[in-house]
Amino acid sequence: MEIAAIQHFSLLDYPGKISAIIFTQGCPFRCAYCHNSELQPVLTGRIPFTEVLAFLQTRVGLLEGVVFSGGEPLMQQDLYNAIVQVKNLGFDIGLHTSGASPSQLKKVLSVVDWVGFDMKTTFENYEAITKVPNSGTFAKKSFDTLLQYRDTINFEIRTTVDSRYISFNDLMQIANFLKENDVDEWILQQCILRHEAQEDVYLPLPSDAEIDALKKVIDVKIRT
Ligand code: SF4
Repeated sequence: MEIAAIQHFSLLDYPGKISAIIFTQGCPFRCAYCHNSELQPVLTGRIPFTEVLAFLQTRVGLLEGVVFSGGEPLMQQDLYNAIVQVKNLGFDIGLHTSGASPSQLKKVLSVVDWVGFDMKTTFENYEAITKVPNSGTFAKKSFDTLLQYRDTINFEIRTTVDSRYISFNDLMQIANFLKENDVDEWILQQCILRHEAQEDVYLPLPSDAEIDALKKVIDVKIRT
């Protein structure tokens, strides 16, 4: 496991659970709005997993969950074993993923309790956001795999609304797609561009009228 950082406490990253977050190093995507771009390159020799486990042992009974985030956790070949070791300490396991590796996702879903799945845009338009050809094909396979586990795993589908690349028409297509797949709820996250030494830029969310139109298709929650 290549671990870049551990956040000791979060109330936001695993719904309903007091959690710690493990940030893994490396992501195959290059989203323009990425807040963790330092986690994109594949680097080795960062925080040893034994150190993470030692910390988590001190939090047994104090935290409820541990979230594997990134970067893209599915890039870690030993993710399954790491999850099992953390789960054996008694924590519920959350996973943040953009679904870049369907085979890895399938491998870990048997030991994960909750998934926050980043649906970047329509699967056809993924490259516009991720800058990686065919990324939508992998993400679609991961989405389909996740749905196969819907009876045993809780999940959240969320989309960061980068209005430079996602139109209202795209959002409506996603809403209809999710509805067709019996997904009950969809989180729309405001896109915030962060640059060093500059003020954050908040990209616009859909208008109230557009959100109302989306809500006629699926239960939409706005996260700012
Ligand atoms: S998938 Fe996430 S970590 Fe990877 S580049 Fe996109 S926003 Fe950053």
